[in-house]
Amino acid sequence: MTVTTYPDLERQSAEDVLAYAVERFHPRLYVACSFQKEASVIIDMLMRIEPQARLFTLDTGLLFPETYETWRALEERYGIEIDAYSGITPPDEAATIASRRWEHDQGACCAERKVARLKDALADVDAWVTGVRRDQGPTRAGTAKLHWDDRHGLFKVNPLADWSERDVWSYIVRHDIPYNPLHDRGYASIGCMPCTSPGTERDGRWPGSDRTECGLHG
Ligand code: SF4
Repeated sequence: MTVTTYPDLERQSAEDVLAYAVERFHPRLYVACSFQKEASVIIDMLMRIEPQARLFTLDTGLLFPETYETWRALEERYGIEIDAYSGITPPDEAATIASRRWEHDQGACCAERKVARLKDALADVDAWVTGVRRDQGPTRAGTAKLHWDDRHGLFKVNPLADWSERDVWSYIVRHDIPYNPLHDRGYASIGCMPCTSPGTERDGRWPGSDRTECGLHG
């Protein structure tokens, strides 16, 4: 896909940004679901706009049981099926887990389990949607609501870019949406089990290392 012009959506609400994305790109629009609180909000909004919208997740095989439960709960609540792009092919899984690669080479582990799978997911669409918020940390502070994603060669839509954590919780409570119960146990950000601890915003990701992003967004 080649870059074409696109509007400045910075003054638009999250619902309006999503509606624009659906109108312009669906069905070549793919919505990423991390099963963190932001994903709960986006799924709820999206299903009100376009019940046939397409959703996917990157299943690294190392997610928390609570994350898998949230995945099932959201599918059940909205009557949807979320496509899964899995971390590693089964014959390699045992060997990779035995090597505990995340302990000695997190870059390679994320590249294999996440970044390569995202590339697969985005191979045949024109835009993707994420739950990235500017408040989540310095690497995300400049996030636009709609922009051309050079890294993946398609448009990237971030409807919640200007939302605070409070905005997210307020929406979840108001609409009584299923959410990942780990948030109630002090995990503000939730990724793979070996690399996630309780903490505010993204402080609990890769604790004890300089790593702040897995390569999907920065
Ligand atoms: Fe591997 Fe940790 Fe990255 Fe998950 S977050 S893919 S376990 S390094």
